[in-house]
Amino acid sequence: MRYDVAIVGAGPAGLFAALELVEAGFKVIVVDKGLDPQRRKSITCGVGGAGTFSDGKLNLTPRIGGDPAAIGCSPGELEALIKEVDEAFTRYGAPERYSGERDEDLAALKKKAAEAGIEFIAGRQRHIGTSRIREVIDNFYHDLLARGVEFRLGTKVEAIEHLPNGFLLKGNGLEVEAHRVIAAPGRVGAYWLREVARRLGVGPEFGPLDVGVRVEFPAELYEPIERVMYDAKFRVRTSTYDDMVRTFCTNPRGFVVKEDYEEFVLVNGHAENDKKTENTNFALLVHIELTDPVEDTTEYGRAIAKLATTIGGGRPILQRLKDLKKGRRSTPERLRRAPIQPTLEEYTPGDISMALPHRVVMDIVEALERLDRIIPGLAADGTLIYAPEIKFYDTRYRVNKGMETELPGFYVAGDASGHSRGIVFAAVTGILAARHIKAVTGNA
Ligand SMILES: Cc1cc2nc3c(=O)[nH]c(=O)nc-3n(C[C@H](O)[C@H](O)[C@H](O)COP(=O)(O)OP(=O)(O)OC[C@H]3O[C@@H](n4cnc5c(N)ncnc54)[C@H](O)[C@@H]3O)c2cc1C
Repeated sequence: MRYDVAIVGAGPAGLFAALELVEAGFKVIVVDKGLDPQRRKSITCGVGGAGTFSDGKLNLTPRIGGDPAAIGCSPGELEALIKEVDEAFTRYGAPERYSGERDEDLAALKKKAAEAGIEFIAGRQRHIGTSRIREVIDNFYHDLLARGVEFRLGTKVEAIEHLPNGFLLKGNGLEVEAHRVIAAPGRVGAYWLREVARRLGVGPEFGPLDVGVRVEFPAELYEPIERVMYDAKFRVRTSTYDDMVRTFCTNPRGFVVKEDYEEFVLVNGHAENDKKTENTNFALLVHIELTDPVEDTTEYGRAIAKLATTIGGGRPILQRLKDLKKGRRSTPERLRRAPIQPTLEEYTPGDISMALPHRVVMDIVEALERLDRIIPGLAADGTLIYAPEIKFYDTRYRVNKGMETELPGFYVAGDASGHSRGIVFAAVTGILAARHIKAVTGNA
């Protein structure tokens, strides 16, 4: 069977692309190595992608989640696309729950942050929550099925070949031909895409990498900020290295989770609607760019992740801030002295300075001390630090305004494209790819 468009990955980018295309009458297949929303167990793979098991914090501002200029979108165009994505989530059952809307509170927090030498990125957010987002994605999935989108789940695409008049997707028991391909395999498939793209003659560029830790602390400390913006974004410029460190993906009363990759483990976090903890967590990430002669940020990030996984005995490393500062490992006994209990069950008490580069560790400690001025108590001895947390959106493809690569008909979208870092922006890039296909085929 030949399809108009084959989409690799059923994350937000793939689902929104499929919706746009099927509405215009295209014959679409979506292939994902994970399962449907009800059956999937994996945090990263399956219909809904990484977002299905996430906290479902939708960042509804062009300032968070990607770089509009890199994909040729004006802030106005982007605002309109973000609105469409938000409306679709509402249609599929997302609750009417926003934060970051009260201008005077945002301004006061901005001032307080500025006084501490911290940049606060204000923006509107909708919070769906972990248990609800599964339902929302399930509704989305069944709507796409009802409209005629074909899904091939539990199937990994191994290779993509360029044919004279389209593409051939190959995998275990899979042979699918399509005129056009949208590759949206997310962070989990970014490395795979890089190899596929190289074989197709589409060279990725190396983008920056974010390396750091997940920080967990008593939930009460974050409450004054949570009332202003649920997932507040702060940026700190550190004094020793002049590096940019940012907070990302805050989960009030949430959980720290482990992500399994083929060769290493990483940490992440989420919050659930009906199961709350005593702790709040966020990622604290150091922005890294490499220059000639070593520009391969993906390899660098993977090398760090593998080292951290080795030193953690196959599990994330957990350390109290006090032990990190004193240059000694955390032991189970020292962790018991912390005023909070870790929400992650599988970890190795250890020494993060054995796993992450010295520069990253220094940046993290300095950033925590600065952030302590707006979240008093954050840099206390008992604050828990988990490593490694690494964001692999470091391979970036040169694309036109419709996410088409230099190879006509081969599109990239979502986090694996290097142009998004979150649910909403990933969805936007999927829509852009689909609209370009509609435009070039006269279906706009
Ligand atoms: C625990 C966690 C919490 C998060 N919380 C938030 C949040 O609150 N708000 C937010 O905006 N973002 C959050 N994120 C990030 C967000 O989920 C991602 O940015 C977003 O899902 C990216 O969408 P995507 O479509 O690019 O890819 P993904 O959602 O990663 O989906 C990619 C899909 O491709 C499939 N795939 C990969 N390779 C192949 C292959 N070779 N063959 C077949 N299928 C393949 C995978 O199985 C996966 O289902 C979170 C992520 C995690 C892991």
